[in-house]
Amino acid sequence: MSEFASLITDWQLHHGRHQLPWQGTRDPYRIWVSEIMLQQTQVITVLNYYPRFMKRFPTVQALASAEEADVLALWSGLGYYSRARHLHRAARQVAGAGFPLTLAGWQALPGVGRSTAAAILVFAYGDRHPILDGNVKRVLARVFACEGFPGAPDVERELWALAEGLLPENRVESYIQGLMDMGATVCTRHRPRCPVCPVQFQCRAFAMDAVGRYPVARPARPVKERTFRMLLLRHAGRLFMERRKSGGIWGGLWSFPEMEMEGSPEHFVREQWGLEGVVSKRHPPVQHVLTHRRFVIHAVEMDVGMEGGGSSQWHRPGDALKLALPVPVRRLVEHLSDRGD
Ligand code: SF4
Repeated sequence: MSEFASLITDWQLHHGRHQLPWQGTRDPYRIWVSEIMLQQTQVITVLNYYPRFMKRFPTVQALASAEEADVLALWSGLGYYSRARHLHRAARQVAGAGFPLTLAGWQALPGVGRSTAAAILVFAYGDRHPILDGNVKRVLARVFACEGFPGAPDVERELWALAEGLLPENRVESYIQGLMDMGATVCTRHRPRCPVCPVQFQCRAFAMDAVGRYPVARPARPVKERTFRMLLLRHAGRLFMERRKSGGIWGGLWSFPEMEMEGSPEHFVREQWGLEGVVSKRHPPVQHVLTHRRFVIHAVEMDVGMEGGGSSQWHRPGDALKLALPVPVRRLVEHLSDRGD
C-alpha cells in the first residue's frame, strides 16, 4: 500500500465517520440513495432527508411503484431535482432487472456516473475501484498540485489516473471512506485544516504555501439573469398553482404562473384563463441565484372572482406546502400560510 493510502486508511479508523445511517449495510439500494443525495450536497443536509426518504421508500420496489410527484415532494428542498427524477426512473429499471453488478451496469442507469457507480460497488460488494467525487478531486488536486480546472476533461483524466494509481490492494472500503471523509471534514473547500491533515507532509500545495490556488477555479461563465413576475392568484382561500413540464429548471415541480414584466397582470389572467382579477399586493423583488442563473422575482398577489383552470390546481396554502415546490415558491407559500391566508 502506498504511503498516501496507508495514511488515509489509518486516519479513517480513528477520525473518519462510522455512524452515518447509510453505513454498516451491504444493501445496494440504501447505499445508492445516499450516494445520489450526497452528490452536490453536504452530509449534514442529507441527514435531514435520507431517513424520511428511506422510511417512505424502504426498498427499490417501493420507490419504483411511487408516483414521481411523491418522490419529488420528499426531495423538495434538497435541490438538483434531476437527481430525484433519475433515481426514480433508474429504480423502475432495477426493480425489473435486478441490481447491476458491474461498473458499466450501474453507469447505464440514469444519474449514475463513474464515481457513484464505483462507490456503490465498493460499499455494497467490497469491490476494488477508485472514486473521484468533488471532495476527492479537491484532495488530489491539492496534494499533487494539479494545474487546470478539475472539471476539464484532460484534467479529470489526469485525476482519474492518479486515483487509480493510489488505490490500495486491501482495505479498499476504509481507504475510499477515509478519502471521502478527509475531503469533507479536513481538506474542506474554504478552510482546510492543514495542521491536523494526515497527508500534510505529502501535500505539494501545502509545501508551496499555495493551498488557496488548488483546485484551480472554473473559468468564469456569464450568469444569465431573468426578471419576471410570479402571479399568486387567490380565490376563496385557495391558491392557483401549475405543475411545470418535466425537464428544464424546476421540471415536474409545482409553481405559480409566470409572466414577463411587460403588460398588466389583469390583462394576462383574462387572456390566459378568462379570469377577472385585481392586484391586491405587489411584493418587493427577491433574487434567487442558481449556478449560472439569477432570477429576480416580482410576486404579485391577485384576487380573482372565480376558479379557472382545473380544480386540482387550486390549493390551500397548508396543502400546497406538501407539494414539491422550488425554494422561492415555497417561501412565498410559507409567507401566505404564516399570514393566515
Ligand atoms: S495539507 Fe491541507 S491542503 Fe493539503 S491535503 Fe491536507 S488539508 Fe488539504
